[in-house]
Amino acid sequence: MQKPEQTRREQLRLALTQGYEIGRRATALGRVADYIPELAKADPGAFGISILDLSGEALSLGDAEVRFSMQSISKVILLALALQRRGETETFSHVMMEPSGDAFNSILKLDTRSNLPFNPMINAGAIETTSLLVGDVTFADLLAYTRRLCLDPDISLDTAMYNSEFQTGHRNRAIGYLLKSKGVMEADPEQTVDLYFRMCSLSVTAKSLAGLGLVLANGGKDPFTGESLIQSDHVRIIKSILFTCGMYDYSGQYGVRVGVPSKSGVGGGIVCAAKGPLGIGLYGPALDAFGNSCGAIHAMTHISRALRLHVFDY
Ligand code: GLU
Repeated sequence: MQKPEQTRREQLRLALTQGYEIGRRATALGRVADYIPELAKADPGAFGISILDLSGEALSLGDAEVRFSMQSISKVILLALALQRRGETETFSHVMMEPSGDAFNSILKLDTRSNLPFNPMINAGAIETTSLLVGDVTFADLLAYTRRLCLDPDISLDTAMYNSEFQTGHRNRAIGYLLKSKGVMEADPEQTVDLYFRMCSLSVTAKSLAGLGLVLANGGKDPFTGESLIQSDHVRIIKSILFTCGMYDYSGQYGVRVGVPSKSGVGGGIVCAAKGPLGIGLYGPALDAFGNSCGAIHAMTHISRALRLHVFDY
């Protein structure tokens, strides 16, 4: 008779293999982002998935070790650190926790409906959470923390990506100055946006994102040392915000169809913190109209169903 853990491992492997095939085919439906010129260099056919559980042995297929820029996935780390350094009450006096229904880089409602950014997963919100860290933590601190959260000591700054974003990130600068003009931002907007650009330009792999997903799924503890990296009540906040706001304007549909707290970035990455606990990292730079990786969305739709990972599955 097979041991239960063997059967689970086989289920994971089967779901991964099927999800990978479905996702790889779906890459043909998307387009690589080019509004940051350096992003346009990615191979649209690249695709990889990595799944990590408490056994510590990742199951990976395809381009799971290809490095790419983290982009918006860094917003998760910026929020975690803002909560740690400034606490829940102060953090949410600078940014709300409501889905915005607007594009990730929209400036519209910020000026017409509210002074506070809608949530920490859109650019305005992440720029505001970054401002809470300026003067308190350095980029080196953030890099070290990212390496620990992703269980990946090799993460580094992609300088070409950073330069590309620095040269073209005028809308993000505008958001910084708008927040400053409203008195919502206390720090210097230039320093804030620079730190934000650096965080977006950290180069990770699907495997690193599986590590981050597992830490979040495991209540914020490093699954292998037991060290607490994010306190558990902050993980609860972060995963709730990922569920409602993590997937751009597809967050509602993703919540229904996949139902796993996840965050995507325009570099083509998605991090998922699933029941088990399981961390799932995906990479596929061909994006759909919402800015999510086409391959990763198709793959996760299958994997969540096959493994019953939806938070409301019973
Ligand atoms: N660095 C990108 C920007 O601010 C991140 C966008 C994203 O991944 O959603 O435009």
